[in-house]
Amino acid sequence: MIRILFYNIRKRGVCCKMSKFLQRSSLYRKKRMGLLLALTMILSLFAFVSTAEAASTISLSLGGPSVSSNTVTFPSAEIGGNATYYAMTVSVDKGSILSTDYSMADMLANHQTATWLFNSGKSTADVQTLLRSVKLSAQDGMTVTVTLTANQTNIPTSSYITAEEINGSTHYYIFVDSQISWENAYEVAKSYSFCGLKGYLATVTSADEDKILDAISSKRGWAGAARISTAWTDAELDQTCNGSVYSPLVGTKTANNSGTIWKWVCGPEAGLSIKIDGSQALRYYGVQNGTGYSNWSSGEPNGSNTSSLPELFLEVHFPSEYRWNDIPANWTQGGRGYFVEFSPYDGGYVSGYSEDNNVTASQLVHVHSLTKTEAVSPTCTEEGNNEYYTCSACGKVFKDEAATEETSVEAETLPAKGHTMTKTEAVSPTCTEEGNNEYYTCSVCGKVFKDEAATEETSVEAETLAALGHDWGEWVETEPALPGVEGIETRTCTRDASHKEARIIKALSYAILEGDKQTYVLRSGKEISLRANGALSKFTGLMVDGKTLDSDKYTVKEGSTIVTFKNAYLDALSVGTYKITFVYDNGSVDGTLYVVEAGTQDDSQDDSDTKTPTVKTGDNAQPGLWLALMGLSCAALLVGFVTHRKRARK
Ligand SMILES: [Zn+2]
Ligand SMILES: [Zn+2]
Ligand SMILES: [Zn+2]
Repeated sequence: MIRILFYNIRKRGVCCKMSKFLQRSSLYRKKRMGLLLALTMILSLFAFVSTAEAASTISLSLGGPSVSSNTVTFPSAEIGGNATYYAMTVSVDKGSILSTDYSMADMLANHQTATWLFNSGKSTADVQTLLRSVKLSAQDGMTVTVTLTANQTNIPTSSYITAEEINGSTHYYIFVDSQISWENAYEVAKSYSFCGLKGYLATVTSADEDKILDAISSKRGWAGAARISTAWTDAELDQTCNGSVYSPLVGTKTANNSGTIWKWVCGPEAGLSIKIDGSQALRYYGVQNGTGYSNWSSGEPNGSNTSSLPELFLEVHFPSEYRWNDIPANWTQGGRGYFVEFSPYDGGYVSGYSEDNNVTASQLVHVHSLTKTEAVSPTCTEEGNNEYYTCSACGKVFKDEAATEETSVEAETLPAKGHTMTKTEAVSPTCTEEGNNEYYTCSVCGKVFKDEAATEETSVEAETLAALGHDWGEWVETEPALPGVEGIETRTCTRDASHKEARIIKALSYAILEGDKQTYVLRSGKEISLRANGALSKFTGLMVDGKTLDSDKYTVKEGSTIVTFKNAYLDALSVGTYKITFVYDNGSVDGTLYVVEAGTQDDSQDDSDTKTPTVKTGDNAQPGLWLALMGLSCAALLVGFVTHRKRARK
């Protein structure tokens, strides 16, 4: 049974390739371990585990991968034990190998396998240093497999190499791009070794194995089959194949087809015959047909030859179908190299070979898919956080985008700060000023609370108590109104005696209280007195019929103003009616005096006291006085208003 590890992906899809890998993995499990270049087949079995196989003396641990900017390295890879190494192979199932100093290129041209050859041997320390320097392009879920061999390895550094599981053992194939004769290639192949396995010209016993060679090179190349004498026994052939002796085959080099057969002539499959399709077989008179797998090109093998150049040897990749052809051993046209195969079989090991000298380790690489969480400052009541990065695949949290420092969401969470409270003391409202309940204000967020523990939020408005307004008492006259002089009345707030309001009392009118409309009888000697209500201090003089009367014509005394005419003056008057005017500095009032001759007046008329004189209120002074009063009232109200406002502002 043959399965292909690497095959021509130019012909088959990647999906097909992946499923084949999985299929192989379980099968491989049952098979012999310690195989170099088992590569991706074991990857899924060793997920997350760095393993070392078969190492009684040597061991390999890749350690944790370091992933930075999508480049993977294994800076802590360890190689245990002491050995001289001949090759190191690194392979990945995803991503690629970035290092370019490996000595054999990835034959799939996608840089997923690279082999470093140390044909003259390399120390453990040197190989470890090299391994730690290898850089890979990371993809999440990629598995990296590293194999080391301390078994002898010696192949050309320009070879292309691949590996395949065949019948429970790993076969390796290289193509050597060097045009030499089949005979030389046969000998040189046997001088090559890989992981302690001796080389031989490739033996192709299935279509899948053909495809392996297709994948390594598109060039024509020798394979390990020849048309040889049927007289050769398997034992003789075996000696030929494994004894580094080509010469016995030379004897078959004949143009005579008679007694010959196509056989594989080297490696573990030496002696297996090769089938020739019917019509071609008929052309080979005397050629015995074989039974094994073949992939002859149409019309081949045709045995075309001259006596000097018989077509006795197999080349694969015969244009243009990548099929087989028979051709002379030293045919130089067409530009061919040769395919060499390595596999374990009796007699196929170099001396000193040990399975324990091959060690393999693999490591699954996770590449974080990070999402940034922006930093958030904590508030009084809400938590904040530092900036951090979270992997959507594995859930791990890191401080940095390069995922070098792991952390946790909890560790990056910043607690809420709590409020920074300032207490506002309770203030009782007054008549004119608002008060407030006790409350607390946070100087950071500005919120207002009823309590310091911030359990009940409120607002300054809600905690404000309205001004009470004044509670006025009765008006009290504090300055009485006088004739011609305004008075003042005042009221006081019951809540605060300093809250007062004043208003003007209208001034009284001037009036003659007594002695108006008296009649004086000439030369009667009667005392004529008039009393007005004006203050004597404001009295400026007396007028008679509009003319100021000399002050020596009367006397004046307190009470409020009592004027008494001198009789000499009265007797000098003519009979008639006189207008008597009391003049004050802020008003005046008129009275009337009648002067008559004796005998023309009834005595009863003379009694001024019985007559009720009409009190004149000084109409002539009224308009001006009222205007003054109104002005004063307005002023008083204004004063009160201003006083109120000033207190409110305190
Ligand atoms: Zn992750
Ligand atoms: Zn706050
Ligand atoms: Zn008040």
